Amino acid sequence: APIILAQDLSKTYRSGKLAVAALRKVSFAIEPGEFVAIVGPSGSGKSTLFYILGGLTHATSGSVCIDGVDFATLDDAERTKMRRAKIGFVFQRFNLLPTLSAIGNIEIAHDIANLGSPKKEIDKPLLDQLTHMLGIEGRLDHRPNELSGGEQQRVAIARALITRPAIVLADEPTGNLDTKNSDAVLGMLRKSSRDLKQTVLMITHNNEAAQIADRILHMRDGEITHIEQGRG
Ligand code: ADP
Ligand code: ADP
Repeated sequence: APIILAQDLSKTYRSGKLAVAALRKVSFAIEPGEFVAIVGPSGSGKSTLFYILGGLTHATSGSVCIDGVDFATLDDAERTKMRRAKIGFVFQRFNLLPTLSAIGNIEIAHDIANLGSPKKEIDKPLLDQLTHMLGIEGRLDHRPNELSGGEQQRVAIARALITRPAIVLADEPTGNLDTKNSDAVLGMLRKSSRDLKQTVLMITHNNEAAQIADRILHMRDGEITHIEQGRG
């Protein structure tokens, strides 16, 4: 069964008399462990889709099922709980907490994902692997404002992966990175999918970066125009 099922998703932003159709009846299914890239130019609806799939915004119509559960059947508290338990987010603007160090940001993600469960220590081998692969092990005691954009980006990725979420949603995870760091991030996401069987959905406007995925959904003007096989 698909872990992410989107059916006829539409989103219209309205302000006064103005209406923008950001998504127009988008449907697709993603299988567990798949690495899917969503590619499209600016304004094609990628971020809107990201927020809806993550349960952070409501669709205007259509449905999202995560692991067989329809978001529409959950109240806000239940949706938040599902999000914390199942989804790791990498936001385009990182959203790191400014008063915490890099390691503090990673640790708090672990704590939040485990709220309501017996206290569990952070997965130290995974932490070491993530910080090493992402090349941030020397920057962990620094706060976000002492880190470059690219370093913040990589901390945000470690934060999303530390809890081994079933689903990783990443919005432009290589947007701020040079080739070397971009390759490290893409390799990390590829490994998450292949070795840890995590489902990865990566939004990008970079067609080159998208090729690392198993499958590439191309978007334009709020619609999926075609589906391409990635290198995988
Ligand atoms: P992308 O991520 O591909 O750049 P978006 O999902 O951000 O696309 O945007 C899709 C369309 O929806 C664009 O026309 C954008 O201007 C519009 N849009 C996005 N967010 C809002 C919003 N909060 N209010 C009004 N229009 C929005
Ligand atoms: P868009 O939806 O078209 O990507 P945004 O308003 O999100 O537009 O971002 C405006 C610009 O800021 C983008 O063109 C992008 O170059 C830059 N930007 C935003 N977020 C990031 C990010 N996480 N990494 C790199 N660049 C970013």
